[in-house]
Amino acid sequence: MNTFLQYNPTRLYFGEKQIQQIQAELGDQQRNVLVVYGGGSIKRNGVYEEALHQLHSINANVFELSGVEPNPRLTTVQKGVEICKQEHIDFLLAIGGGSVIDCTKAIAAGAMYDGNPWDLFTQVAPVENALPFGTVLTLAATGSEMNQVSVITNWDTHDKIGWSSPYVFPTFSILDPHYTKSVPLDQTIYGIVDSMSHALEHYFHRTDNTPMIDGFIESLLRTAIQNGPKLVENPDSFQYRETMMYISTTAFNGTLSNGTDGGDWATHRIEHALSAVYDIPHGGGLAILFPNWLEHVLEDDPSRVKQLAINVLGVSEEGKSDKDIAKEGAKALRQFWNNLGAPSRLADYNIDDTHFTDIIEKTFIKPGVGTYKEMDKDSVHDILRRSL
Ligand code: NAP
Ligand code: FE
Repeated sequence: MNTFLQYNPTRLYFGEKQIQQIQAELGDQQRNVLVVYGGGSIKRNGVYEEALHQLHSINANVFELSGVEPNPRLTTVQKGVEICKQEHIDFLLAIGGGSVIDCTKAIAAGAMYDGNPWDLFTQVAPVENALPFGTVLTLAATGSEMNQVSVITNWDTHDKIGWSSPYVFPTFSILDPHYTKSVPLDQTIYGIVDSMSHALEHYFHRTDNTPMIDGFIESLLRTAIQNGPKLVENPDSFQYRETMMYISTTAFNGTLSNGTDGGDWATHRIEHALSAVYDIPHGGGLAILFPNWLEHVLEDDPSRVKQLAINVLGVSEEGKSDKDIAKEGAKALRQFWNNLGAPSRLADYNIDDTHFTDIIEKTFIKPGVGTYKEMDKDSVHDILRRSL
């Protein structure tokens, strides 16, 4: 194992009616709170009303930023920063999925910076502080509710950048599985794919003697494989929503990188470049790319994909070469996601090879893509070609 620091300051309130904790979290002083949300799902499912009730009961001055896009945009971040500065906002409350939370993180950091917030995400300037914020999660997918990562798209330049800072861990997050019951089927499926992809990215590390973490990741993935189809069949089930919610948070809150080199993350980098060009859902892009990344890496070294195939994907060993077992594993993952209803080819989004050069360039917007297998431009091209 590598040396590691386990640090996660987010207070997580998990379960029914935990929204009441907002009062205890914010109650001590008069607050100017900016509530950040998306296209209105929280008004249709009642979560907005419940959260606002909490804020009014502590006499907070409430301001609002609505309309955060899926794949949140820099222009919306800039709007939020302006409100924070003008209205002397001292706390932000994100109510929504990963996009709303990521946008809130970017606003929180941007509000404490004098220049264009894009500088912070491109590392032109360091993040040196951020406003505190909490979250009410409504979609189980990204893990953003308990991590220091955010992904923002600059639609002028078509760049989608993941950035992170210890200043943007949420102060608290409310996770009530009831709030995810209204998530549409497609987003529910993308959430399953994204969470599993986070676990898979962590799994592909090159650190020795990590049986505890490897077993933990395998167990998380097996649980997702058992729970996912049941959830898709019974989207109103509290039980399956609850299991999914805990999976998605755990898959990306630091737990799965304890003692390892942190994992690979090349598939996420390629997906960000893909959705910067085509604005497709993150989970949909991952469902297409990940099995092809597995097929690409197993050509040089099938060992880890083979282990995944046997321990997670139910592939039998007898009489087969390592490579064949690994190939069956990649196929089984594609099949599993496809059976859930996720796409498996770029053609499912009417994407052909027209913009491959652009996507490859954007994948390398920051140097160093992949650690389990370091990617060059030809490798990324191979994965995209396999994904057609
Ligand atoms: P999302 O983009 O936040 O939401 C997708 C859609 O689901 C929106 O239309 C949203 O509607 C709707 N929705 C959310 N909750 C709902 C509910 N309870 N009922 C009905 N509809 C609901 O999806 P996401 O997958 O959570 O986030 C994706 C973004 O996160 C991408 O930009 C991705 O790159 C990024 N990401 C971040 C991390 C991280 O660690 N920070 C990790 C992976 C991915 P409304 O607009 O009305 O809310
Ligand atoms: Fe992701």
